[in-house]
Amino acid sequence: MTRLLLIGPPGAGKGTQAARLAEAFDVPAVSTGDIFRANLKNGTELGLEAKKFMDAGEYVPDSLTNAIVHDRLQEVDAAGGFLLDGYPRTTEQVHELDRLLLADGTALDAVVQIVADTDEVVARLLKRAAEQGRADDTVEVIRHRMDIYEQQTAPLTEVYGSRGLVVTVDGLGPVDEVTDRILVGLAARGLHAVRPVEAS
Ligand code: ADP
Repeated sequence: MTRLLLIGPPGAGKGTQAARLAEAFDVPAVSTGDIFRANLKNGTELGLEAKKFMDAGEYVPDSLTNAIVHDRLQEVDAAGGFLLDGYPRTTEQVHELDRLLLADGTALDAVVQIVADTDEVVARLLKRAAEQGRADDTVEVIRHRMDIYEQQTAPLTEVYGSRGLVVTVDGLGPVDEVTDRILVGLAARGLHAVRPVEAS
């Protein structure tokens, strides 16, 4: 029954760590970016609408994003906990998540903040662009995504920090080490993994 958030700039390795933590805590990883990309691949209306924003490095409007998270968290597998990756990203999304959890009588257990040096994350994103060809991984769009992150999402760590929920971890270094740092930080708060994480 663990409810976690993962916050960090684009390229910090959230997706990689999300999959590993979800496994460790036996909860589904819910990534808004993945949901949008899956919709885009399947040619849904939501996908086409989200594409306009994603390709430009903008955030998808809160109304749309909140609606998909609302639906996803209603699914049965999320009843026993979840790991949200890439949501909330704006103050309005924080409020929506607060409302959703309050309605369920549940609460977040911790917010994992992955920090990483900007030059390093830009380099990682450019590498990913070369490997995967994501439309939002061009130099200009990456810079814009970083700016938006600083303006809109970085302040969220203060909001959650004032609630005493934030575990901050350095995202640089080998994947396994970053996972270990997160697991140690969560264990210190009494949140223990239920399964070992396999070495990458
Ligand atoms: P990254 O963390 O590398 O930016 P994501 O896969 O998490 O990548 O997100 C890709 C894009 O999807 C974002 O740039 C944004 O356009 C959209 N998106 C994902 N999550 C949200 C959100 N919570 N609010 C608004 N837009 C979102």
